[in-house]
Amino acid sequence: MRRPLAHRLLLGIRIALPRLPGGADAMALWPFMLVKKGPPLPAWIAHHERIHFLQQLECAYVGFFIVYGIEYLYLRLWRRLSHYRAYRTVRFEQEAYQNQRTPHYLATRKPFAWARRKV
Ligand SMILES: [Zn+2]
Repeated sequence: MRRPLAHRLLLGIRIALPRLPGGADAMALWPFMLVKKGPPLPAWIAHHERIHFLQQLECAYVGFFIVYGIEYLYLRLWRRLSHYRAYRTVRFEQEAYQNQRTPHYLATRKPFAWARRKV
């Protein structure tokens, strides 16, 4: 059975690399899901990256990286948070971390859910 286009777009094309920036296990650059070579990726990590896929599509892709970068720099330079705290506070990450273990989240998620969060 053929999957709907929206579903196929969110599955992503996995590319295994020996290492990723910052020691990450996976990274979403729609339509590519960059993953660290090794054991199979846990389902919740793939789900986390799929939430980022949707965010990237909502922000016309480049907007995601602009908002992400501005928020991260604001949190690091203005609010003086550590790298890890700033990373976890970026609103895209708040949404992804909060819902990464909820399997049906993508089916029930409201558009631009990340925008309702506060940094
Ligand atoms: Zn993330």
